[in-house]
Amino acid sequence: MTTPLAEEIRALIAAEGPMPVSRYMALCLGHPRHGYYMTRDPLGARGDFTTAPEISQMFGELLGLWAVAQWQQMGSPAAFRLVELGPGRGTLMADALRAARLVPDFGAAARIHLVETSPVLRAAQARTLAGHAADVAWHDRMEDVPDGPALVLANEFFDALPIDQYVWKSGHWHERRVGLDDAGRLVLGLDPAPSRAAPAFAAHLPPPAEGAVLEHLESGPARALAARLKAQGGAALIIDYGHAGGYGDTFQALEKHSFADPLAAPGAADLTAHVDFTTLALIGRAAGLRAFGPLEQGAFLARLGLAQRAARLKRDAPEEVRAGVDAAARRLAGEGAGQMGRLFKALVLAHPEIGLPPAFDSTEEWV
Ligand code: SAH
Repeated sequence: MTTPLAEEIRALIAAEGPMPVSRYMALCLGHPRHGYYMTRDPLGARGDFTTAPEISQMFGELLGLWAVAQWQQMGSPAAFRLVELGPGRGTLMADALRAARLVPDFGAAARIHLVETSPVLRAAQARTLAGHAADVAWHDRMEDVPDGPALVLANEFFDALPIDQYVWKSGHWHERRVGLDDAGRLVLGLDPAPSRAAPAFAAHLPPPAEGAVLEHLESGPARALAARLKAQGGAALIIDYGHAGGYGDTFQALEKHSFADPLAAPGAADLTAHVDFTTLALIGRAAGLRAFGPLEQGAFLARLGLAQRAARLKRDAPEEVRAGVDAAARRLAGEGAGQMGRLFKALVLAHPEIGLPPAFDSTEEWV
């Protein structure tokens, strides 16, 4: 399928030469007119993918309780920023705020800030949150959130940030680039010159085998988040699909809930990469934060009381509701194929003066 963005990318490559994977991803997802997130709401059964908050209200509710407990550990500040990065339809924030009504002081202290670049999803968030929060402010970047201690939630945000890829060939890392073949089609190739940046990204990894793929997350947003938390206090809960580092090619496209060729339909398919939690934890530690996890989502939700919350929702409910609650709990926390309990993981970055984050134990800290 050719798309308007494919034409534009082909013209760019013809003029300037092959582009890094990160530039291709940034154009496909964030191009102001043709970018995937800028033009549509991709979530839900009829979209291209679904996410934990869209599967069940229990997810956002449990994260809301986590946020309340974390806020109490911070000494219950009378004003703080409750920030969500990439809030999608606003479902997680609405469910979290509803659950947090148990502790009215939390809601009174929270100023809601949503970091979102998509005009389509900003509109969806405004609709969802209309009955839940009087004041919501939107920002393009974490750096634009006003001063003050912050609690930050990010579910499936980091997987949508651009990555670069490097391939180990004959003793050197070479950057993977998107170029054109003889027929003018988009193809992946390698920069013939060895990469000067890649060796530093691989410094904490074992020696690579021929053909190994190294992925590097665009680190600006994580660094900005970490620096802010260190300077002004607070903590971030990052949940995503990902791994604890290593080699491998996870660059993928999702269309109608199936994997697709990431070069086939620029701007019309979602592009993602698995999140490297080791890199995120090291960025947090380098900024002077404490890092906890990654803890598998199944274990994380169980510790926050998923079973109890499911039992409460099932009490006095008709049979089809009960079955739906059980199915959602299995999807969120189960360990089998298609279930999210093992693939998805939770990482917390916290200011050093805050104690152990709720649902983590001291053996799960990076030291
Ligand atoms: N957290 C939501 C949505 C996940 S989809 C959920 O769990 O359902 C990714 C979200 O991040 C979308 O809201 C998308 O528009 C937003 N996003 C993607 N790239 C972004 C960027 N660079 N800056 C801010 N938001 C971004």
